Amino acid sequence: MSEGEAFDFQIDRIITIVKDTGAKVIGLQFPEGFKRRSPGIGSKIEDETGVTVLISGNPCFGACDIDVALVDNVEVLFHFGHAPLDDNALSRKVYFIETRSDVDVKAVVELAVPELKGQKIGLITTVQHVHKLKDASLVLKEHGKDCVICTGDSKIAYPGQVLGCNFSAARNEDCDEYLYIGSGQFHPLGVSLATKKHVLIADPFVNELREADSSKVLRQRSAVIAKSLDAESFGIVVSSKPGQERMKLAEELKKMAKKHGKDAYILTMDLVTPDQLLQFKMDAFVNTACPRIAVDEVGRFNAPMLTPLEFEIVLGEREWEDLYFDEIAGE
Ligand code: SF4
Repeated sequence: MSEGEAFDFQIDRIITIVKDTGAKVIGLQFPEGFKRRSPGIGSKIEDETGVTVLISGNPCFGACDIDVALVDNVEVLFHFGHAPLDDNALSRKVYFIETRSDVDVKAVVELAVPELKGQKIGLITTVQHVHKLKDASLVLKEHGKDCVICTGDSKIAYPGQVLGCNFSAARNEDCDEYLYIGSGQFHPLGVSLATKKHVLIADPFVNELREADSSKVLRQRSAVIAKSLDAESFGIVVSSKPGQERMKLAEELKKMAKKHGKDAYILTMDLVTPDQLLQFKMDAFVNTACPRIAVDEVGRFNAPMLTPLEFEIVLGEREWEDLYFDEIAGE
């Protein structure tokens, strides 16, 4: 995220919650991009309330990734940068501070209009800009477009919101094309694969447009699949993180591997990294944890790291044409 842009850390709300709950010890958990802000925010809360602040130093990539050990040691945990997921069993103690951006989106949407050839435009974004979708939709409507902001499944807190593991808000209605408001590549690429539609990225931080071009990532994924075709042993990776744990899927994949005469082992761990898997001498891995891992860390594991869908292709249970990003679906 851009250094210069203002994000709403809701310090006053946090102070009120701390005072109202009478908490003596609280936790703060930030995603990587906001960690450097933690000392300033922590001191302000301590100064205003006298509470003791513990800051999570563990990596944090999503609402799936609550610091469970820290939750046990505090009365309240404030988790920044993400909207809640549906299955957060810890939510009684955890407050989600969504850290929305106040950057204007209208200018970049104006810029996007001439590039949008379809009539029915689906608007999608991350939680940081979800409150600005109305502004974006007004601009599109002024230019005669039909604008759709769809509700996703139960994992999705707001209409039009997408996660790196859930594009349901883009799939719920058939649009001609999509306009993604935000700075990253992963979400729009996921939407373009999930919908097979044109996705234009409108980055409001730098006021620039980009195409979501999935050709490079598809080439990379095809290479990973090709390298796994002769594999005999598979490590099926399961994360213990609350919102990433998919043991049932791992068991189904293991059964599928056995049916095809392959060896498969379920490997459980918290954080999934190339180092963590280094000592397992498998021919290939299958990742059931955060779907971004296999894609973002491509080439960094000591054996090909497949997504569950790619594993099905390797086993001949799925056609190559049916290759999408892995998703963790809700209800
Ligand atoms: S599983 Fe991955 S993509 Fe999904 S919310 Fe967690 S970090 Fe984000």
